[in-house]
Amino acid sequence: MSNTFTKIKEAFRLLKHIDFDQLSKISQKVDLVKVMDGFSKLDDNQLKGLLKMMDGDGKKKELPPINGDFYELSDRLSAEDRALQLRIRQFMEQEVKPLVNKYWLHDEFPFELIPKFGELGLAGITYNGYGCPNKSFLMEGVLAMEMARVDASIATFFGVQSGLAMGSIYLCGSEEQKQEWLPQMNKMQKIGAFGLTEPEVGSGAAGGLTTTCKRTAEGWVLNGQKKWIGNATFADLIVIWARDLDDGQVKGFILKKDTPGFSVEKIKGKMALRIVQNGLITLKDCVIEEKDRLPHANSFKDTANVLRMTRAGVAWMAVGCARGAYESALDYTRKRKQFGKPIASFQLIQNHLVEMLSNLTAMQTLVFRLSELQDAGQLKDEHASLAKVFCSLRTRDIVGQAREVMGGNGILLEHDVARFVADAEAIYSYEGTKEINSLIVGRAITGMSAFV
Ligand SMILES: Cc1cc2nc3c(=O)[nH]c(=O)nc-3n(C[C@H](O)[C@H](O)[C@H](O)COP(=O)(O)OP(=O)(O)OC[C@H]3O[C@@H](n4cnc5c(N)ncnc54)[C@H](O)[C@@H]3O)c2cc1C
Repeated sequence: MSNTFTKIKEAFRLLKHIDFDQLSKISQKVDLVKVMDGFSKLDDNQLKGLLKMMDGDGKKKELPPINGDFYELSDRLSAEDRALQLRIRQFMEQEVKPLVNKYWLHDEFPFELIPKFGELGLAGITYNGYGCPNKSFLMEGVLAMEMARVDASIATFFGVQSGLAMGSIYLCGSEEQKQEWLPQMNKMQKIGAFGLTEPEVGSGAAGGLTTTCKRTAEGWVLNGQKKWIGNATFADLIVIWARDLDDGQVKGFILKKDTPGFSVEKIKGKMALRIVQNGLITLKDCVIEEKDRLPHANSFKDTANVLRMTRAGVAWMAVGCARGAYESALDYTRKRKQFGKPIASFQLIQNHLVEMLSNLTAMQTLVFRLSELQDAGQLKDEHASLAKVFCSLRTRDIVGQAREVMGGNGILLEHDVARFVADAEAIYSYEGTKEINSLIVGRAITGMSAFV
């Protein structure tokens, strides 16, 4: 580096980090020829110091890691739980992520994943016994978030199996039913579904179910239809909720897929959660034996217990969907260049990113506390409903902003965020719409029911 030529070469090496636009602006204010001359007069040490200062020792500047957990809530997990979180993340990144856009596009389910989920052995994560892991509700939430962070459809498939279907049996089933189904469902050898909603009865399920059951000499006879039932097209068993023609109360049944009179039609043309196979079920004089009736499901209150347990998981799922979108968008804005600079360096883009992160951080903090309440046995309907309302609403904002900062590429499936945008719409509506969950919270805080 002792001759002038080498020094000028080094000066150019520094200048190569400045793009043409910047260079022409600088040349309007600074006499670049004089600057180059100045460089040539520097001694070796001065030049090395300058290089170090401007060029970060010649190394490319490291960008901060992409982490949607800005307040490091994961640090509050035990080492064992943190390891489990990372295991799920790795599974989702390696096994699930490469498949999801293809299956989402074709409106199909990746059946090859079922045995792999079985090996994880995480279904029914909070249940005690029956081969289930007996983990906290907090870990159930973290699991839902990690799954939805990669794909909300897969998280929903898992939530139906682990929460709604296994949960109905765990909370309302007999000991024999639990022994028969839960270990197999934990290993994903049997797949379950949960049939509550009907074509004409959604939000009003509590008082208005039209699917009926009647006790006869042969067993219980079920008639009616169920709509939107996740996993129904391939499930081995479906928990069906029906109104007893004799006492008017809602009862629960384990319906096996080969029951005569049962048929299911796939709901086609969804613009959200396209991997989830939702079915329209028809029950025509289906006979179910008394041993397959859930003995602890004797009114809609028992159905509501299952929904209370799983609704917190849906709030966590919204967080995962938002987190996946935020992290993808942040990554994209650091790589995408416009006007010669990464778009992440623009003030307005940073404003979007910070708004997304603020909402995401508020959501995560909220669901974390929600799960703490659930683990302490203090969870009330209104707690779960508030989290479901807030998180699914804010998720819509976050995925929208994530799409916005990606410009045209934001609507391309290959960049993932388009899928999160669509899926957020279904999360917003299922397991209680915004209005219904708001009415639950409204009733709790005012002491006045506004349900009609
Ligand atoms: C992808 C997906 C998966 C699903 N999976 C399942 C499943 O596995 N099992 C299952 O049983 N169900 C499932 N559902 C059904 C889901 O729970 C219902 O869609 C949801 O409860 C809303 O019912 P609905 O669609 O009939 O809407 P409706 O009840 O018809 O509501 C339409 C609108 O009216 C509003 N509304 C209704 N009543 C009131 C009121 N009193 N005051 C103010 N506003 C009101 C609602 O908030 C909503 O905005 C699924 C739905 C979707 C979209």
